[in-house]
Amino acid sequence: MLTHLDCTKCERRYDPGQTLNLCQCGAPLYARYDLQRAKHEMRPGHLALREPSMWRYREVLPLGDPEARVTLGEGFTPLLPATRLGELLGLPRLLVKDEANNPTGSFKARGLSMAVSMARALGATDVCLPSAGNAGSALAAYAARAGLKAHVFLPRDIAQLFVLETEAYGAHVETVDGLISDAGRICAAQAKEHGWYECATLKEPYRVEGKKTLGYELAEQGEWTLPDAILYPTGGGTGLVGMWKAFEELEEMGFIGSERPRMYAVQAEGCAPMVKAFSEGLEAAPFWEGAETHAHGLRVPSALGDFLILRALRESHGAGMAVSEEEILQGVRDASSTDGLFVAPEGGACVAAARKLKASGHLSPDDSIVLFNTGTGYKYVENMLDAGWESATA
Ligand SMILES: *Cc1c(COP(=O)(O)O)cnc(C)c1O
Repeated sequence: MLTHLDCTKCERRYDPGQTLNLCQCGAPLYARYDLQRAKHEMRPGHLALREPSMWRYREVLPLGDPEARVTLGEGFTPLLPATRLGELLGLPRLLVKDEANNPTGSFKARGLSMAVSMARALGATDVCLPSAGNAGSALAAYAARAGLKAHVFLPRDIAQLFVLETEAYGAHVETVDGLISDAGRICAAQAKEHGWYECATLKEPYRVEGKKTLGYELAEQGEWTLPDAILYPTGGGTGLVGMWKAFEELEEMGFIGSERPRMYAVQAEGCAPMVKAFSEGLEAAPFWEGAETHAHGLRVPSALGDFLILRALRESHGAGMAVSEEEILQGVRDASSTDGLFVAPEGGACVAAARKLKASGHLSPDDSIVLFNTGTGYKYVENMLDAGWESATA
């Protein structure tokens, strides 16, 4: 029940029957739905009987025809009580939304299942994006399944696994000197030259629609009560702004009230543009020079949705928190050794941030807290060894 797209900055509206990127004004576009109709069909009793994937929220997703889905079973991941980790951190009401078992090993599957489904439905034949690692392999996997050609631009210093995996799915991989931002420039130029559909974060309107299902799942799994605080490892911030969008839609449909969880954007000390911009009171985040972290999903020096991320942090009375490489590794070890969760470094960063937010008084033992583990640790063995796993956590 997609009705149209509108701009997140200006008043422009767009017809959804075409492949779209940014608004003419340069800002991201958001999909809009007939929520008054959706709310009758999405009643909790109906939802309970649906498939255990993100597609259970079909009335608020852009793809009309179920046959057109390009799916590997993404989403509807467990929301696990983390009792022993919570005890360690002094936060007894800690939960982990564990995205590790998504197809291709990270929550990027949600966004790219949606983006590739829409790209194919709208007639694209070639899709492309720059990636710090997981977005590239997810795009490649779904493109393979859809019969589309994927072109993925990766930083040259990326762990070999990501290149191998992405090529295994049949994608064309180009490694680039520099970071995802440099890869992005080359990708955009080639997309223009060859007529490929660009699926970079928030440059295409449907990845965020896949990611927003995180917010629907938190609401449904929490029996329509949201937690007090959410800790989200933030790169481009699609999941964070996606959840924020989901909460607005849920309120408009009457599933939840006006209360919101405090949103915390977790970043690495070596690349913390949102944390810095938040603490300086800025509405947009300046480019972060010399970005460096082994948590590659966080190695994103600038984000198109910076103003949306910062707005959500402020409106929710949340904050930003940066953690060091050592703290990230310790976080991975803590989640693994207490509750059996071998999390990605990005998940480890959230564990570390929870500890620091508790110490600074942002989080209290009374709070119900959801910490995001956005991927599996299995893909990061090389990164964790490089970061000094053996000495840091001995
Ligand atoms: C991409 C990625 C992130 C960052 O997600 P955004 O929504 O872009 O902020 C975090 N963790 C992992 C494992 C990722 O792949």
